[in-house]
Amino acid sequence: MREKFIIAIDGPSGAGKSTASKLLSKRLGYIYVDTGALYRAIAWKVKENNIDSKDEAQLEDMCNKTDIKIRAVDSEQRVYVDGKDVNSYIRTPEIGMMSSKVSSVHCVRKRLLELQRQFGKEGGAVIEGRDIGTVVFPDAEVKFFLKASDEERGRRRYIELKGKGHNVSLEDTTEDIKKRDYNDSKRDIAPLCIAEDAIVIDSTGLDAEGVVKKMLNEISKKKAKAKTPHLNPLPIGERK
Ligand code: C5P
Repeated sequence: MREKFIIAIDGPSGAGKSTASKLLSKRLGYIYVDTGALYRAIAWKVKENNIDSKDEAQLEDMCNKTDIKIRAVDSEQRVYVDGKDVNSYIRTPEIGMMSSKVSSVHCVRKRLLELQRQFGKEGGAVIEGRDIGTVVFPDAEVKFFLKASDEERGRRRYIELKGKGHNVSLEDTTEDIKKRDYNDSKRDIAPLCIAEDAIVIDSTGLDAEGVVKKMLNEISKKKAKAKTPHLNPLPIGERK
């Protein structure tokens, strides 16, 4: 077990992963990594270069030639594609849908897997996405799966998009995230699913503080267990 944990936070869109992950990383003094931004960055480049998202050869060529970097600026994560800060372009519903398409392609996932593993290799990281606890860091010390009702997720995403000046309706936004979750959970590679050892938190009706309180409580329990292994004896039949 690493001294500084890797905390994996997975779940569908709008379940409150980003707000909770940022807050949690601040509380723990850990780095925060939003892996969805990497898929969005690829989707942005696909759109900019008019690449056919179904043409795997073109996508692979593009992925191999693309430099993606993330940097923490004022405790926010910024993404750079070939040196350009693309943060203000990647949070649109269109790029969200495109990222869900390209994320099902093998070469894209392969390219981003290594990158994601580098961010967490030292531990001390809160990493959010769809397959962090199942594929990227199956050995993460603590795994959370955040969920919330469709209505609440749609409402949260709608408020977020409206706040950024996008002209969207609540109905379309809710439909969009449901469609994206369907794609993300049904794809063949690294589908969105609950890791066997994940702690499921339903954030419906909870604010970010409420979610983080639950998370910190679970993390403390894990830390205490790691420090006092004698408190977790073997079942009687297995003792020597
Ligand atoms: O989290 P966010 O909504 O920004 O993610 C955008 C898309 O990126 C998701 O709908 C999903 O298709 C993809 N994604 C993924 N694996 C991750 C993170 C995001 O497939 N670890």
